[in-house]
Amino acid sequence: MRIRASFAGLAVMLAVVGCSQQETAGGGGSGIEGVANAMGATNLNTIEYAGSGSVFGFGQAYLPGEAWPRFDQEVYRVQANYQAPAFRLDQTRSQGMHPPHGGAAQPIAGDQRTVAVVNGESAWAENGDMATPNPGGAAGDRRRMLWATPHGVIKAALANNGTLEGNTITFTAEGREFKATVSGDNLVEKVAYLNTNEVIGDYPVEVTYSDYMDYNGVKFPTHIVQTDDGHPTFDIRITSMQPNAAVTMDVPANVTNAAPPAPMTAKSEVLGPGFWYINAGGTWSWALDFGDHAVVVEAITSEARSLAVLEEVRRLMPNKPIRYLLNTHAHYDHAGGLRTFVQQGITIVTHEMNVPFYKEVWARPRTIAPDSLSKEPKEAVFETVSDKKVMTGGGKTLELYYMKNTGHNGANLLIYAPQQGVVFWGDGYNPPPGDDPIDPARTPEYGIDLIRVINENNLNVRTIAPAHGAGSRPYDNLRKAAGLMAP
Ligand SMILES: [Zn+2]
Repeated sequence: MRIRASFAGLAVMLAVVGCSQQETAGGGGSGIEGVANAMGATNLNTIEYAGSGSVFGFGQAYLPGEAWPRFDQEVYRVQANYQAPAFRLDQTRSQGMHPPHGGAAQPIAGDQRTVAVVNGESAWAENGDMATPNPGGAAGDRRRMLWATPHGVIKAALANNGTLEGNTITFTAEGREFKATVSGDNLVEKVAYLNTNEVIGDYPVEVTYSDYMDYNGVKFPTHIVQTDDGHPTFDIRITSMQPNAAVTMDVPANVTNAAPPAPMTAKSEVLGPGFWYINAGGTWSWALDFGDHAVVVEAITSEARSLAVLEEVRRLMPNKPIRYLLNTHAHYDHAGGLRTFVQQGITIVTHEMNVPFYKEVWARPRTIAPDSLSKEPKEAVFETVSDKKVMTGGGKTLELYYMKNTGHNGANLLIYAPQQGVVFWGDGYNPPPGDDPIDPARTPEYGIDLIRVINENNLNVRTIAPAHGAGSRPYDNLRKAAGLMAP
């Protein structure tokens, strides 16, 4: 309802701005209307612009605190309709770092295209003629991207009673405060707002616009740089812009009729006696019976997933305290569910290099999406690994190995259950569905890293059961995928 109200407000404000532009008869004016006139926003209903440059993998740095890994952005194309409001971001990326360094699905093979769309409350991904609904927070995220565009921010400021003080426009939309900085000649230079992430909580998004050009009275920047939490996520040179382009983003029927997202549930399969492989939300954890306590491997993605995994572990091992959570690495997907375990008094076992990062980011504010730990704070307890750590209990053993000199992450652990010959990792090779072990979306560098670590430590691996992918597979599948064994 709130969105429709602001849409009505936008229509009214557009009418008002239209009058004031006639009165100032030349595109001047003061306040936010002056910015709207200078930008050519007043009669702009839709836009299409495109360019290329670099795109970066947020939350996927080689080491915590470093810049996000870079990809070549072959295509960056935006279509926007400010009134719907609707927004489409069409991107094609390819491997940008040689050799691969860091995460975000590296090393990617060939070109990888993604098309993300929002229209009102509906968000979806396009893949050719197919539309995949993106329920949950995607619609809000993409509308915020629309309101952070050079003209979108002016439209949203006018529709939401924005104020201009000094050179800063401030307003609230989509539940967030936006700040837009304008230049002396009334062009939008920067838009900033807060976003949220399961690992780091509130974090700043800043989009910087420069090198403006005039397209028949509509000003548009030819250089766009976005940072998320201080590191670049986009650096794009715009090469074409079409004001009032014919853009259509009708909501596909299967998106309109999509069921709401099902609640997160966990399912387990047996890897050995008292040893389970748990799937929740499409990603995997391990749970082991260590006699007088339980151990869980990997708290991936989110608090919602951790709560489902914890419920399943307690169903499998009723009344057994969960004492340890083993974390492979600090990429934001693999660390996204850790805080839930901390809040429940469970010790986090991770590489020693990750601890200062976790302590720092877990202390940050969480005003946008409070979680159980921010509501009931508890001090995190860590046990660390430098080169190797062995954990035993209830006749079971887990061995944790630091993955030295590997490309995916610089503080990454491989976890090995010697009695069953099963190995777990965070990223590097994701078993695809079906019979062919080769993942066509990736080149094999990180799979080769995994095999090298396994060989260097003389591990007798028979089964792989990692964090991502279609499920547990024979170790030979990894060797075939890496090109070290005939298919
Ligand atoms: Zn990773």
